[in-house]
Amino acid sequence: MDWQDALREIITQPNTRLRFGEPLSKHTHFGIGGEATVLIEVSTIEELAALARFHSKWKIPVAIIGRGANMLVSDKGFSGICIKLIGELAKLDVDDNVVTVGAGYPLPALSKEMSRKGLSGVEFVLGIPGTVGGALIMNAGAWGSSFGDVVTDVTVMQNTGELLKLTQDEANFEYRRSRLDTYFCIIGATLTLKHGEVGTITQKMNTLFKQKIETQPFVEENAGCMFKNPQGDSAGRLIDISGLKGYRIGGAEVSTIHGNFILNINNATATDVLKLVAYIQKHVHKKTGISLETEVKRLGFDT
Ligand SMILES: Cc1cc2nc3c(=O)[nH]c(=O)nc-3n(C[C@H](O)[C@H](O)[C@H](O)COP(=O)(O)OP(=O)(O)OC[C@H]3O[C@@H](n4cnc5c(N)ncnc54)[C@H](O)[C@@H]3O)c2cc1C
Repeated sequence: MDWQDALREIITQPNTRLRFGEPLSKHTHFGIGGEATVLIEVSTIEELAALARFHSKWKIPVAIIGRGANMLVSDKGFSGICIKLIGELAKLDVDDNVVTVGAGYPLPALSKEMSRKGLSGVEFVLGIPGTVGGALIMNAGAWGSSFGDVVTDVTVMQNTGELLKLTQDEANFEYRRSRLDTYFCIIGATLTLKHGEVGTITQKMNTLFKQKIETQPFVEENAGCMFKNPQGDSAGRLIDISGLKGYRIGGAEVSTIHGNFILNINNATATDVLKLVAYIQKHVHKKTGISLETEVKRLGFDT
């Protein structure tokens, strides 16, 4: 039996969806990327554990995808299994100010739902189009807040399929990174939020969202900020003073609204994006002496 037949045998849940040769451009905000050998939308912890054991046994590469909002997938695609979390892995449970949320849950929905319940702490994620899992891995943040700040603990799955609960300290949240990417998959987290007035929280959430759509591109396909901000500076400012706004390679363009966003304006390929990334890094370094480091995760590339 080959690995693909063996895989079909372990997928038994009616809600779990399995698709071979799935274009990853359909699952990333960039709208870029070749096919995954297989994409599975997993709906239960048991099935995810079976996949973890499958991965350990067959040594087939696995990548977990949230909303693909911080991801550049290669034009060749991904030779392996892409997993998205749905069903019981994307659930929300609120008990007083303690929120238990599955890694597949979308951030904008979390922000809206918490504002309706008068819970403060995640107003800033309305404009971040990812999932809780992606926000935990990346320690997503905006306007001085970071997702890790509201986390009490994180549940992860190990390669054996066993679950492990990590404290906020163990997750080691830092600027746009955490220690969580060493596990097979993030299952979810417990957040501790603060009680507040529904009106005040909603207003804060809407103000931050408005600020975001006024200062960042929201129409064209992109993957959020392409580069991390260097200590004490902003990558967008450095790209701007280097005269790169509007610069285009193939179908990829540096946003004229915010220099740290690369847009897919005309069927850009991952190759176009990476050429543009290299061009920006070279020219920003020449102009300012600063080396920009990318924030966007890559999938399906050789290195
Ligand atoms: C328009 C736009 C605006 C944005 N604004 C912001 C912003 O203000 N601040 C900010 O920080 N980011 C921003 N981003 C980037 C992005 O939304 C965040 O990084 C978000 O947290 C990514 O979540 P995701 O679920 O889409 O992760 P993905 O892009 O799907 O994945 C990111 C990484 O996390 C891993 N991953 C995802 N889920 C899991 C899981 N359950 N278990 C293990 N690994 C997992 C993936 O393998 C990958 O390595 C923006 C993006 C866009 C397109």
